[in-house]
Amino acid sequence: MSPRGWGVVFALLAAPAFADPARLELDARLDPATRELRARGVLVVGRGAAEIALAARFRVDSFAVDGRRDALAGLVREGRRVWRLPAAALERRVEIAWHGTLDPLDESLSHRDTLGDARLVAGERGSFLPGSTLWHPTVADGLAGYRVAIAVPAGQKALVAGRIVEEHESGGEYRARFEFPHPADGIDLIAGPYQVENREVRTAAGTPLRLRTYFHREIAPLAAGYLDSVQNYIDRYEGWIGAYPYSEFSVVSSPTPTGFGMPTLTYLGIDVLRLPFIRVTSLGHEVLHNWWGNGVMVDYARGNWSEGLTTFMADYRYKEDQGVEAAREMRLEWLRDFAAMPAGEDRPLNRFVARHHSASQIVGYNKAAMTFVMLRDLIGGEAFDAGIREFWRAQRFRAASWSDLQRAFEQASKRDLSAFFAQWLDRAGAPALRIAEVRLVASGNSWQVAANLVQSAPPYDLRVPLVLRTERGPQVRVVDMRAGRQVVTFEADARPNALALDPELRLFRRLAAGEAPPILRQVMVDPATVVAILSGGAAADAARKLAGRLLDYAATEYSPDAPLPDAPLLAIGLAGEVDAWLAAKGQAPQPSIFAANATAWVWAARRSDGRALVAVSAHDAAALAVLLRPLPHYGRQSWIAFDGAKVIERGVWPSIPQEVPLD
Ligand SMILES: [Zn+2]
Repeated sequence: MSPRGWGVVFALLAAPAFADPARLELDARLDPATRELRARGVLVVGRGAAEIALAARFRVDSFAVDGRRDALAGLVREGRRVWRLPAAALERRVEIAWHGTLDPLDESLSHRDTLGDARLVAGERGSFLPGSTLWHPTVADGLAGYRVAIAVPAGQKALVAGRIVEEHESGGEYRARFEFPHPADGIDLIAGPYQVENREVRTAAGTPLRLRTYFHREIAPLAAGYLDSVQNYIDRYEGWIGAYPYSEFSVVSSPTPTGFGMPTLTYLGIDVLRLPFIRVTSLGHEVLHNWWGNGVMVDYARGNWSEGLTTFMADYRYKEDQGVEAAREMRLEWLRDFAAMPAGEDRPLNRFVARHHSASQIVGYNKAAMTFVMLRDLIGGEAFDAGIREFWRAQRFRAASWSDLQRAFEQASKRDLSAFFAQWLDRAGAPALRIAEVRLVASGNSWQVAANLVQSAPPYDLRVPLVLRTERGPQVRVVDMRAGRQVVTFEADARPNALALDPELRLFRRLAAGEAPPILRQVMVDPATVVAILSGGAAADAARKLAGRLLDYAATEYSPDAPLPDAPLLAIGLAGEVDAWLAAKGQAPQPSIFAANATAWVWAARRSDGRALVAVSAHDAAALAVLLRPLPHYGRQSWIAFDGAKVIERGVWPSIPQEVPLD
């Protein structure tokens, strides 16, 4: 999930920065029932020329600069009302009052619909006012800090990121005041019919901390468990990185399937919070964003390091806690996703800013996290952790870049890491590695193995793990490889059986065909994917809808009677027609592993010409139609059997390590 996603949107829309960040004092009253917002604020703007912006949908009731009401008329431009202030000798006090009606909350919106679309919504089940929508006035460089007083009708609670200074309920109204003394892109305001669970604790480092849940009634019983988990995560990351930078953390429920992390809080959909694994995965990721992304901000102009570091120190570390097999499984998933990504979609890691679709996640989250796995392998765990602490100490509440991270790790490891960072950040793609040939020479009780390693051009500077399997156990060797070809020799005093290349998957590399079995995602993310609709009538309608839902890009249809296209293929139809079509095209039939009592079967395969094929085969049109919601979530699978909309079996074809037998 992406923190400060809104911040990115704002940064991209903002005019050229010529203002200092401003300080904002804000007093807002929101009525979720009528969706009416009334607010007034004082924006303290520095001496430079400044451009103040507010969403044009609001009526401005008054605008005054240093008490002068007629000072400036705003101009409306691209949905924003803008006031230009020339440079001045002193900082200015700009007083603005405004009001307007927000959009109604639409609970049917999916995660996909809401993610990239910053909208102002209000309703009794929940209101969300992201700062990037400019529901409050701000300047291009954002805010240096803010104070907010909010009022909502009794029965509702409202909050923003920051320290809660005071709250009370009287006269049919709930009022709360917040303070945030750090830089912020904007103020995200959230309100809902919340039951608040409050816990005052001290962290292991002794910092006083207020933990809260703002939950809808139906999930209120989950509050205690969430508070326990938040406390554990904060202790864990304080010990690892440095003191938690704020005085509060709240978990806030949303009626829509949202997932956001802001400083001091995370805003997650009710249905997301209900999932039992969220407490042990995503919650820790969101808590960690208080250090990475919020505590240390991202210098977006130079790429986003925070998702990769957070994925490495949260999601991946939790797998390492489970054991080496679970961690390897996660690395395999990352590499398999990368192998499934069309070449044209790949971008250098330093160009990643925010997640828009799966391809940017594969680079910005997974490749970045894998880069940290390789960095820790290279410099050792101790130096890695020292680098993390140094980075935090030096960059707290600043906007940092990949080069600041590099500097911290160089300082901690006393090594020049410029080549390492350059090849993983500046280059798109990944090296492909293989054992080109192996020679085994036996003399008496000793054996000599000579292997020729080859990597794709231009070569990377790699530390390649090789494992020589012998009758008396494995011999592990890490080989430094800088050239396109390299000969490696082993001496063994037991008969060798096989030589394996990076069997633990510790390198970010392009997997060989057997290592990366086909998965559904391969056709989902490829803009070249072509769709074959194999049945007519109601089944054809359902099939077209399903294709639209599954593919990241608009689908091109191809006539099933034509020869197979020179592109990845998604074939959808009823079982009889799918079977007949596969046979007519000389392709392998439906795999026999599937449950016979299923109503729909989906599988990924490699075609006889090597290209990807995903087939969706259903009992009838209705069985096809119900796949619309569940199927897009299973991109990482190779095969799935459905009973209605329910998954009854699924799996990934086995990954076969690159291993050359010796005999
Ligand atoms: Zn994240």
